[in-house]
Amino acid sequence: MSDFSSLGLSPKVLQAVRNLGYETPTPVQSETIPLVLAGKDVIAGAQTGTGKTAAFCLPCMDKLGHAGKHCGPLMLVVTPTRELADQIGAVCAEVAKLTKHKVTTVVGGVSYNPQREALRRGTDVLIATPGRLEDLMGQESVGLDQVGVVVLDEADRMVDMGFLPAVKRIVAACTAPHQTLLFSATIDDAVQKFADGALHHPVSVAIARKGETAQTVDQYLVRISHAAKPSALKALLQSRGAKRVIVFARTRHRADSCARRISKMGFKAEALHSDKSQNQRRRALDAFAKGKVNVLVATDVLARGIDVDQVDYVVNYDIPTQPEDYIHRIGRTGRAGATGCAISLVCPENAKELRDIEALIKRSIPEMTIPGFDVEAAESDAADRSAQLAARRSKDPEVEAAVKDLSAQKRKQRKKKAQAEARSKAGAPAAKNPSAKKKRAKQASAAQAPAQTAKPAKKKDKRSGVPKPAGGKAPAVTKDMRPGRAHRAAVERQRRRG
Ligand code: AMP
Repeated sequence: MSDFSSLGLSPKVLQAVRNLGYETPTPVQSETIPLVLAGKDVIAGAQTGTGKTAAFCLPCMDKLGHAGKHCGPLMLVVTPTRELADQIGAVCAEVAKLTKHKVTTVVGGVSYNPQREALRRGTDVLIATPGRLEDLMGQESVGLDQVGVVVLDEADRMVDMGFLPAVKRIVAACTAPHQTLLFSATIDDAVQKFADGALHHPVSVAIARKGETAQTVDQYLVRISHAAKPSALKALLQSRGAKRVIVFARTRHRADSCARRISKMGFKAEALHSDKSQNQRRRALDAFAKGKVNVLVATDVLARGIDVDQVDYVVNYDIPTQPEDYIHRIGRTGRAGATGCAISLVCPENAKELRDIEALIKRSIPEMTIPGFDVEAAESDAADRSAQLAARRSKDPEVEAAVKDLSAQKRKQRKKKAQAEARSKAGAPAAKNPSAKKKRAKQASAAQAPAQTAKPAKKKDKRSGVPKPAGGKAPAVTKDMRPGRAHRAAVERQRRRG
């Protein structure tokens, strides 16, 4: 394994590396840094959490000039989300303390003026999300004609989010000869096609095969009905602990309601999704990083912006509809070599999504049981709750009472069953059941009863001689059941005698 000092970085940047707390380069850093320093275009497919931000920030800033007043930017980083832009900005700012570069971040959701002002003063490094950058270009607050290095970060996500046309226009506005670096967690056809047009003789680095998942993440699934998911989540948080957990929900609405539920369960939870303001998002991420919030409930759009170390585990409260999102989600745990764990709650309706994910990662995800969690009871309770809700909605007091009765009965039965099971496990005698006792006593007295107390013989059918069942007709006489000729003659003799 190489160390940072063998990669060709200057003493200043090596000091920045130490300040960042990095000791040994990650594989993507070892491979990319020398290529970038040599001026090559690079297409790097790296799994999430592999250290790709430093893989481009360190070498690019190491060889970057200084634009001077009212000039620049000289380096442009385009990234899909505000959180990623902040994360890249933080690494660049650390390096800039030593290289003395000016770093500016422009993202949507915050006011334009401070960004315009920073750009007017001049900047060396510009980190931007595509929408806001295009707005500022349209207002002529920024020009890209001095850009000498373009970094396209999380290219696959930009394609997924529909940013490809904007990114193409931005790249086209970088009119000076420039070096291009493209980073993407997965390299699919759309990304490859775009790279073919935007990069010149690129060198490919550490291409993660499509579907490769972070190797340090243990993955499990829990089969559960949709309605019983909240109880399963509660049991998971209680049994595995909830120090630093990320829960993924499918929609913003579900993320909100899930976060509310988790808070009611007694954990500190916050929702993180695109309906939240930039400040709310920052506050939530900050609180999560500092441990003031233990459970972050997020949607896919913001999954990649979460860069918090030591996430204990990730829960897919809803499994994603896009299989690639599964890889990004589980990449939030087990970052930079740490071990992690991802648990997916899968209901029967998600069978197809699960198949797609397993096909993509080329392995089947093992099932796990949550200690102390009774799936059957949770599902039955959840079904009762939905029935009660439907009954309440029907506004018919009789229906409501009937549904309540039924669920109370079911609960009683389940309790009895559980008690009996517990007793039989402990090897204790059967329950004190009066009716069972009576039955046993009856059986015992019947066994000891004298012959005359035995039931009288059943009457026989006149024609067939077959015993009649009590109070009923004789069964139909079949050929095999007919009495024999000798028997019939004996009966006839008896009749004649009297
Ligand atoms: P990234 O893939 O850039 O999102 O980085 C993921 C995480 O890895 C971040 O929290 C970085 O601070 C951390 N990281 C990056 N490079 C290294 C390194 N060489 N050693 C240890 N941690 C690193």
